[in-house]
Amino acid sequence: MRPLLPIFGLVASLAACGGGSSSPPDAAGPVQPVANPDREVIDTKLSFDVTAMTGQASITLDHSTAPGASFEVGDLHIDTVTWSGADLPFAVASSRMDLGLPRLDVPTTIDVAFHWSLHSKFDGESATGFTFLWPYFCGNLFPCHSQPSDGTTFTLDVTGVPAGKTAVFPPAIPASAPAYQLAWSIDAYTQLDLGATTAGTQVSVWYRPNELTKAMTGTQHLVAAFDWLEKTLGPYRFGDHVGTVSVAWGPGAYGGMEHHPRWHVGATSLANEVTNVHESAHGWFGDGIRLACWEDFVLSEGTVSYLAARALDVVAPAAGAQAWSDYASQLAGIPGSNLVWPQTCGKVDVLKDHLFTNAPYMRGAFFYKAVADKVGAGLVDRALSTYYLAHAGATGSMAEMLETIHAVTGYDPGACAQIWLTSATTPQPGACP
Ligand SMILES: [Zn+2]
Repeated sequence: MRPLLPIFGLVASLAACGGGSSSPPDAAGPVQPVANPDREVIDTKLSFDVTAMTGQASITLDHSTAPGASFEVGDLHIDTVTWSGADLPFAVASSRMDLGLPRLDVPTTIDVAFHWSLHSKFDGESATGFTFLWPYFCGNLFPCHSQPSDGTTFTLDVTGVPAGKTAVFPPAIPASAPAYQLAWSIDAYTQLDLGATTAGTQVSVWYRPNELTKAMTGTQHLVAAFDWLEKTLGPYRFGDHVGTVSVAWGPGAYGGMEHHPRWHVGATSLANEVTNVHESAHGWFGDGIRLACWEDFVLSEGTVSYLAARALDVVAPAAGAQAWSDYASQLAGIPGSNLVWPQTCGKVDVLKDHLFTNAPYMRGAFFYKAVADKVGAGLVDRALSTYYLAHAGATGSMAEMLETIHAVTGYDPGACAQIWLTSATTPQPGACP
C-alpha cells in the first residue's frame, strides 16, 4: 500500500458466544477447545450479506499433529461453528477463537456463521461500503490468521447490495494470499475495460460518478505497465481479470491498497499514474510473494515503489522521469531516524512501532535505483524475476533479496543496503560504493 493519512487504531472488543457439542463426525471426534495457532489455514470460502450483516466462512485447515485450532476474530459475534454438519465446540476470548478440533492427518473444513460490525478507522468494513484489513484487522471481518507470512486461497461472495450500487470484488483469489489482500467496495460503479496484456490478462478500472477523466488519466499506461511486469518478472498469479477500483476513502486519505486482483486506489489518488502502477505491482511483491515478517515491509513497498517507476520508465519515459522526480522530493523530507529495514523478525508492530512511514517506500526504491546505476537496470530486472520465480506463492525476506541480487548481478549490495536500508541518515540518490 501507499501511506494513508494517520488514523489507525486497534479496535477489538471481546466477542463471546457459547460453544456447542454433538456427536463426532468420524472416529477422531471433537475435543475441548484448545489453542493451536500453528494449524494453518489453506483455503477460505467467504460469503457476506451486507444488509443483514451476516457472514459464512468455510475454512479448510491443514493437518495437525496437535489438537485445536485458533483464529483471530476481532469483534465478530460467532453464531455457530460446525464440522461435517455437527456443532463443534469453540471458545472466544480476547478476540481469539479456539476450536475443539482433534488432531488429524489430513486437511479438514470447518464452517463458521457470524455477524460483524462496522468500523471507522480503516480496520474493517466502513459505513461507506469499503473494507480495509491491512495490516492485521482481518479478524474484524472474518475468522483469520493475520501474519503476513500466512497464505490462503479465497472465494468471496457479497450479497444484499443496495439498489443502484455494485459490489466490486474478486470472486476468487486462486493463489495463496495474505489475509489483508481480501476486500470489496460498494458504490455506484462503472467498469471501463482498458485492454488485455500479451498474456491475456484483462485490465479494467472501476470508477464512480464523475470520475471518468481521472480514471483515464491514472490508468493511461496501466495495460502496458502490467504487460511489462508480466513479461519481466513472471506469470501473474491472481486470475485473468485485474484492475483499479476507485474507493471512497475520504478526502484526507491518499494512495492505494494491494487488494489483488481488484486493487483499491483512494479516490483522491485515482488520477495518479504511479499509484495505479504501484498497486498493480504488488501482485508480484507483497501479495504474490508474502512477507516473512513485518520487518521485511521494504521487500514489499520498496520493491514495488521501484517497480512502478521502472515500469513507467520503460513504457512511458516521461511518466517514469516524473515518478523519480516525485520520489526524490519525498526522499528529501524523510527523517533519517525513520525505520526502513529492522534487523529482527516478528518483533516489530508495523503500526505501533512506526515502520509504516514513507521511509521503506522511498529508501527502498532508491536502493534498487542505486544498484541499477551500478549494474544496469536490465540486470536488476533479472534479479527481481529470479527472486519472484523462486518465492512466488510463498514467503520472502529482504536478506534473501540481497543474496539474489549478488548471485544474479555479481555486485554485492551489502554496503549499498547498509547506506539505504539500515543507516540512520537519509542518503542522497545514487550514493552507493
Ligand atoms: Zn504499496
